[in-house]
Amino acid sequence: MTTPASAAKASGRAATAADLDTLSRQLNRPVRDVVEIPARCVCGNPLVAATAPRLSNGIPFPTTFYLTHPVITAAVSRLEAAGLMNTMTERLSADPDLAAAYLAAHRAYLSARAGIGERAGTGPVPEIDGISAGGMPTRVKCLHVLVGHALAAGPGVNPLGDEAIEDIAQWWTPERCYCVGAWDPESPVPSRDLSRHVRQQPSKPLPRS
Ligand SMILES: [Zn+2]
Repeated sequence: MTTPASAAKASGRAATAADLDTLSRQLNRPVRDVVEIPARCVCGNPLVAATAPRLSNGIPFPTTFYLTHPVITAAVSRLEAAGLMNTMTERLSADPDLAAAYLAAHRAYLSARAGIGERAGTGPVPEIDGISAGGMPTRVKCLHVLVGHALAAGPGVNPLGDEAIEDIAQWWTPERCYCVGAWDPESPVPSRDLSRHVRQQPSKPLPRS
């Protein structure tokens, strides 16, 4: 007997049509060029979307791992509002070990993106060679990017992303499902037309950097 959760686990990283609908509901806008789901809730729902390094319209896209779960996104925004990014950036210039681990995270990001590009068949993307995201390797400009990377890569790869995950433990932890009530699984899937005509947003995929 296959439950939805075990089916989701078996499907692994591949993004199903149902995953894409869930992502669009989580973000309240249509998603494009998502190739994998590198991190899932214990219930199977996506936590992070992996986008191809070159979009189908040809534009290079450096932000490979995008945090989509509204509960985690909101919790990380609280850390950003509390000024954690400045503190982390200052620590990077004062702590050579942390700086080295963060540089390694930057390189891991680039390597993971190259793998996703290969699997997505997008070919080389020289425009973004050496450019990762979130301020890596020397600054912290977007904590959501670091948390998305840490969830995708697993513990021990992005030290500041791992820290931020610990820091949001009062709102979200990896062991529990926080999906109920976080978005409406019955709502219509946001479409490009809806976003253009009703919400007045450009139909850009995952624009956070
Ligand atoms: Zn869940």
